[in-house]
Amino acid sequence: MIGKGGFGKVYKGMLGGQEVAIKRLSRDSRQGTKEFRNEVILIAKLQHRNLVRLLGCCSEGDEKLLIYEYLPNKSLDSTLFDESRKLMLDWATRFRIIKGIARRLLYLHEDSRFTIIHRDLKAGNVLLGANLKPKIADFGTARIFGDNEENANTQRIVGTYGYMAPKYAMEGVFSTKSDVYSFGVLLLEVVTGIRRNSISQTMGFPSLTVYSWNMWKEDKTEELPDSSIIDTSPDEVLLCVHVALLCVQENPDDRPLMSSVVFVLENGSTTLTAPNRPACFARRSAEMDQIRNDIQTSVNSFTLTEIEGR
Ligand code: ATP
Repeated sequence: MIGKGGFGKVYKGMLGGQEVAIKRLSRDSRQGTKEFRNEVILIAKLQHRNLVRLLGCCSEGDEKLLIYEYLPNKSLDSTLFDESRKLMLDWATRFRIIKGIARRLLYLHEDSRFTIIHRDLKAGNVLLGANLKPKIADFGTARIFGDNEENANTQRIVGTYGYMAPKYAMEGVFSTKSDVYSFGVLLLEVVTGIRRNSISQTMGFPSLTVYSWNMWKEDKTEELPDSSIIDTSPDEVLLCVHVALLCVQENPDDRPLMSSVVFVLENGSTTLTAPNRPACFARRSAEMDQIRNDIQTSVNSFTLTEIEGR
């Protein structure tokens, strides 16, 4: 067994001489047959070398398996937040990973044959392949948009607390801009090495986004990078934090498209607008408290599969 997620346990195995990762849907999984089918259908349509390849599946009675190519370097979160493994992630590597994720997300949003909204982009759903190349995984909750569709509304909010855009978490409205929000949170995690919801490491601020925004406002951006990084590039750090803060703005229309994000990360920019204060969930409301309570029932980093009854 090499891991465990909301879907169930993950095993390493051999299939026809090839190393594979096998996800076995557990009976008490918060994800179900619907996510299983979605993953199979969607990833089969996508098949791209930068997305984790699905090699096969099995659905026999209660037994449901998904078989993927095996990625040797685990998920980004088990590297980023592990005291010894994080040493593999120097600044140049982190910046390469950030740009890689941005390009993969752009592919999903704009360059594939479909518009795909991932809806659960997070460090746990980025797997690191050889040379620490990032690949986006977990399409169980992703949605394909039609040609003229820009927003969708769902009663069934899936995603992970702290990565979910406010309008999506509160009202179920999602678009490519909800993924952009999650990307912003992920980007801040990669730069700082701080988990999105770690109160202890964010100096009493309610979230990593608000903490980062405050540091940026006070011109202390250079203090944000993970202390384990010894070779930071202040200009690149500033650029990353600035882009991240634009991505986590409250109003989805204010957030950049992934095409702009990729362009700016790859070419730099001197003309970025100043970000607004991130919405975060600092503003408490009865509804948000209810969501918090629901989430309390599941383990912190697991996917939140359902918030019903609104
Ligand atoms: P959630 O289900 O809540 O999204 P998760 O993404 O961490 O959480 P899984 O996708 O089930 O859960 O993966 C659990 C762990 O199994 C990962 O963190 C990773 O370490 C390992 N893993 C998953 N897929 C692969 C793979 N293709 N190759 C190598 N390891 C994998």
